[in-house]
Amino acid sequence: MRTDFPGGNGLLLSVDESPGRPVVRFAAEPRNCPQALWFHFQLTGLGGRAVRVVLANPEQTLGGVDWSGNCPVLRQESQPWQRIGRPQKLQTPGGRVEWAWDIDAAGDAIELAFCYPYQPADLAATLEELSGAFKTEFVGLTLAGRSLIRVFNRLAQPHRPAVMLTARHHGGEVPGSWVLDGLLRHVAANGALREITWWAIPFVDLDDVVSGSYGKDPFPHDCNRSYGPSAPRRPEAGAVIAEARRLKSQAASLFFVDLHGPSHAERAVYLPARSWEPGAPINPIAHEFAERFQSATPEDIRSPVAFVTPRPGSNSRYPGLPASRWARSGLKVDSITLETSYQGNQHRDYTIEDYRRLGATLAETVAEWLSVRRHG
Ligand SMILES: [Zn+2]
Repeated sequence: MRTDFPGGNGLLLSVDESPGRPVVRFAAEPRNCPQALWFHFQLTGLGGRAVRVVLANPEQTLGGVDWSGNCPVLRQESQPWQRIGRPQKLQTPGGRVEWAWDIDAAGDAIELAFCYPYQPADLAATLEELSGAFKTEFVGLTLAGRSLIRVFNRLAQPHRPAVMLTARHHGGEVPGSWVLDGLLRHVAANGALREITWWAIPFVDLDDVVSGSYGKDPFPHDCNRSYGPSAPRRPEAGAVIAEARRLKSQAASLFFVDLHGPSHAERAVYLPARSWEPGAPINPIAHEFAERFQSATPEDIRSPVAFVTPRPGSNSRYPGLPASRWARSGLKVDSITLETSYQGNQHRDYTIEDYRRLGATLAETVAEWLSVRRHG
């Protein structure tokens, strides 16, 4: 079992070669976080045999022990990523639960991940494919000294509305990246959308993206709980704040979008009507934007719910201001958070292309929103 590549995560616990189908037990590594979730590893030396892969620590994952509806993704040598089926529940004698996926015979090596991986190299490939529609610029350093970049289609101009997007405030939340990937592709292909100024910080928690950590509530601070109350507690948040202030000061208006993934089993794509920390006020635009986005989404990938209203404090271990709420309270602009399922909706397990279609829908919904706001 190998994890020595960008985004690698997974600790090998045991290999049982005695049955015809070897059984590989692994744990998703929490690393610098109180909870685990992300995993991505390669198994080699299979010699064409089928294999059973067992997740041994579901209790430690954000979302809890019930992985019954979860379909991770598999890649066999140079094939595209595909979903594997739902797991089988294993009960240990003491009452612990583990989950097993049976994988058909393939080649010598397979890669398995919690959801479709998305690393800086994947973004670079997309930007290359879009041949110059977007440029990149260095905007600061992470805590560990990696370069944060902004992706943008144009510099701001006072007569153009602007949109600022952020993704991967939590390193493992790959659905946000695939939605952003689809949005960038859709903007590049659409003349009217290109008139809007689009800036994105695609990997805010870049250190955890690259190191393969889930990045939720990591040591020392969660990137998305670092925007206040009074000052940024991480350099990544400081860089986003500086970029957003710059963009607002130079553009006709600014709309702020923060892209996330929910807990592991949620089969929905939704706007939280407020953030999770105690005392968080309702986002006044969340309901209306959420309903527009939901109804604009193609039916086969449409979410069963448009928004949720979190109970304050229900999912927040540590206090601190999230990016989207900072945009409303500190920057005084409209903002939303979008949570995109790792799995799909109630009928369908999302493909990479499905995530991109959600991104295209988001681009259209934002553009329509800006136009309605502008012209009444
Ligand atoms: Zn998140």
